[in-house]
Amino acid sequence: MKYHIWTEGCQMNVADSQRVASALEHLGYENSPRPDEADVIVLNTCVVRQSAEDKAYGRLSSLRPLKQRNPNLVINLMGCLVGVKDPVHLRQRFPYVDVFSPPSDPTPLIELLSQDESRAMLEGETQTRNRLLDEDLILPEVQRGRLVSGFIPVVYGCSHACTYCIIPYRRGIERSRPPEDILSEARSLVAQGVKEITLLGQIVDRYGKDEPAYPNLAGLLIRMSQIEGLKRIRFLTSHPNWMTDELLDAVATLPKVMPHIEVPVQAGDDEVLANMRRGYTAEQYRRLVERIRARIPGVSVATDIIVGFPGESYAQFQHTYELLAELKLDVAHLARYSPRPGTVSARRMPDDVSDEEKWRRFRLLEEQQEQIAAEIHARYWGQTVPVLFEEKNKNRWKGRTPTNKLVFVESDRDLTGEELPVKISWTGPWSMLGSLAV
Ligand code: SAM
Repeated sequence: MKYHIWTEGCQMNVADSQRVASALEHLGYENSPRPDEADVIVLNTCVVRQSAEDKAYGRLSSLRPLKQRNPNLVINLMGCLVGVKDPVHLRQRFPYVDVFSPPSDPTPLIELLSQDESRAMLEGETQTRNRLLDEDLILPEVQRGRLVSGFIPVVYGCSHACTYCIIPYRRGIERSRPPEDILSEARSLVAQGVKEITLLGQIVDRYGKDEPAYPNLAGLLIRMSQIEGLKRIRFLTSHPNWMTDELLDAVATLPKVMPHIEVPVQAGDDEVLANMRRGYTAEQYRRLVERIRARIPGVSVATDIIVGFPGESYAQFQHTYELLAELKLDVAHLARYSPRPGTVSARRMPDDVSDEEKWRRFRLLEEQQEQIAAEIHARYWGQTVPVLFEEKNKNRWKGRTPTNKLVFVESDRDLTGEELPVKISWTGPWSMLGSLAV
């Protein structure tokens, strides 16, 4: 029996799909890259912007003929399109979907498959797989020993109601996971060859705030660092208001924790920030970046920006443009505002920046960021940096520096999972080239 998973959206969805895959592997299913050969198809969806939601509907419609051809096919719709409440409207609209799962929860699918005896795997084979890894999280066979970088959710949901954001509605309130579960999942990933783990949360630095008995994120990083065989640890996404000095010092002092911080500013204008209900000003963000840079030498900082938020005037946009020009951050993930159903901004604030103008602002920031990134990368020219290699892309090995820069190297050796010094010989805005310095 085979399964196929289609994943759209953020790293959290990638991690959620990994859990579904693991649960299916436990049941004895095998991964298939082709949906038309699968007995179970999982669509793990994102709705953070309208474009992502449209993609999910498109994909869902494309499955109808497969279901017509094979009525035994199980179709599982999962993720933020489904949300945490019973998706009555989706059940009515897509009667050929067999099972709906909320984000991060493979249980409804697994329960359905376990009920159906004809789908039960041969007991012997299942036991062999379980013996292979006496742990919770089983990677699909194709990834075992090959997947270098894995994700682990540490906080589910989000309770910070940014006015534009649909995530709290679809992923529910903030819930930290028990540290033991996280650590055992990490150990099982490492036992299967994973060398780098990224801890995930919508506001990851709030880890443990809802559970007084749990460590905070700095404490969790200390415990993660003790896992033998794990080379690198990252975490995302941070919120400016929750980045404590204790956390920054943990990043600076724990050698396995990489000097890279993802901390979205979203806008550089105070009125827009207040309308977004982000809870800080541009000046506070500026000071935060200074603090991050002072405490973590050589750190790289990534941010997220939304252009064309309701009411954003050109002058207000310029404040964002100027803030990014001044701070020269390593990465800016850019998005055009997309009103999401049920959010405060969609209900109360007219989407009054035209699409054309959103694109214009987007491109202005994109061009500026391209230059900034090129300048930052140019400093790597001639330097030797440790690169953790992930996979071969065409004839080049792809890896990342501690600061999360993409590096390509030519080599005939299998470099999967190796961390090696690389001398950088060319840099561009998106990546660098180099050669092994060993
Ligand atoms: N929780 C993180 C945070 O606090 O920023 C990231 C969540 S979201 C998956 C990733 C990014 O999508 C956000 O940082 C934001 O820039 C963007 N985003 C969220 N809602 C959006 C919307 N309605 N329109 C456009 N972009 C949006």
